[in-house]
Amino acid sequence: LGGSITRALQQMSNATIIDEKVLNECLNEITRALLQSDVQFKLVRDMQTNIKKIVNLDDLAAGHNKRNIIQKAIFNELCKILDPGKPAFAPKKGKPSVVMFVGLQGSGKTTTCTKYAFYHQKKGWKPALVCADTFRAGAFDQLKQNATKAKIPFYGSYMESDPVKIAEEGVERFKKENCDLIIVDTSGRHKQEAALFEEMRQVSEATKPDLVIFVMDSSIGQAAFDQAQAFKQSVAVGAVIITKMDGHAKGGGALSAVAATKSPVIFIGTGEHMDEFEVFDVKPFVSRLLGMGDWSGFMDKIHEVVPMDQQPELLQKLSEGNFTMRIMYEQFQNILKMGPIGQVFSMLPGFSAELMPKGREKESQAKIKRYMYMMDSMTNEELDSTNPKLMNESRIMRIARGSGRQVRDVMEMLEEYKRLAKIWSKMKGLKIPKKGEMSAL
Ligand code: GDP
Ligand code: MG
Repeated sequence: LGGSITRALQQMSNATIIDEKVLNECLNEITRALLQSDVQFKLVRDMQTNIKKIVNLDDLAAGHNKRNIIQKAIFNELCKILDPGKPAFAPKKGKPSVVMFVGLQGSGKTTTCTKYAFYHQKKGWKPALVCADTFRAGAFDQLKQNATKAKIPFYGSYMESDPVKIAEEGVERFKKENCDLIIVDTSGRHKQEAALFEEMRQVSEATKPDLVIFVMDSSIGQAAFDQAQAFKQSVAVGAVIITKMDGHAKGGGALSAVAATKSPVIFIGTGEHMDEFEVFDVKPFVSRLLGMGDWSGFMDKIHEVVPMDQQPELLQKLSEGNFTMRIMYEQFQNILKMGPIGQVFSMLPGFSAELMPKGREKESQAKIKRYMYMMDSMTNEELDSTNPKLMNESRIMRIARGSGRQVRDVMEMLEEYKRLAKIWSKMKGLKIPKKGEMSAL
């Protein structure tokens, strides 16, 4: 996809006269590429119309960077499609919320339910899992296994065949137990489709979810729109999670799911493991969709915010792919030095959504300082190590004592390190573009 878009734009910028015909040819080429990436036809067509409105041919003829203007327009249009205009319902810690998961069999619901619960548990929530899939043999066992591994309370039955009853009982029980995030996993398969949607409607009616999440496999392709719409018609879908983003699919179906449900994507699944779960971030997703890699925006940002004299060294470290604590420390230092954190929050995809949520810059800054303070109690060996096993209990306790913090604070800092190291490791072997060489596509 990236290749053909680049080619289309190249052809266009080589043309001496950019007229309607050249722009159309370019847009048609891009349309083909997006369709191949499973973006729905109607969305692509609308986008094409919008771009034509935005891209003023007179401006282009006047010597502006044509490629850049069109690239930006395409990028922005795709980002816009992913923004339904209103955020998803956000459960509040300490206040009971019911979250129901829907989606076809195999989409990753059960796995994602646990990831979602685990993610919140790590942040101090009290989640619980309810298995309302009585259709598939082994469904309860699967949920039970996942839940046990993550030490999350669960509810289900081998005997009861009525999913509505189990859902209702489970939700009731966990409300009594003061759980603040009650997650209802549902079935995705039925002998008749109509029966599945009727079942979803009934489970929803019985459990009164605050949020219904539609789970979609990223490789589903053009079927995404109809599927999402079908669920939306039977239950009040309010958010989307895209799974299996670790695979080959670029996830163009996400655009369809957002369009069909008018709900935002909130997380993506990036593997089978419990912690392979990330807050959804629009820009890197669109970059990937356009074949830009998740990193082009990041590289631009580095050129923009990292002091010039430090760039070569940082990029060298990036391409080596080894993210040490010391590098994290240096990056934190950079961030704090750069002044208002708001300006640099989008420096790194991982940094932006998790560590530095928009609007909470003050808190983020305090957190970074706290982390750095703890790192001040680390030895050189620890700071320069790339061996995750090095940080054993006694070292963690020593750091906690040395910085006057709790063991759990040190653990949190180490978790953050691990998360960033994982993102960082994807940069390994990166070909480092020089400033100005970094074209968007
Ligand atoms: P359900 O039928 O919707 O409940 O789907 P499951 O949760 O049982 O998942 C179906 C399969 O997809 C399982 O083998 C999961 O391990 C796998 N799976 C789920 N999410 C992901 C993901 O993000 N990445 C990968 N690689 N596999 C996933
Ligand atoms: Mg399941």
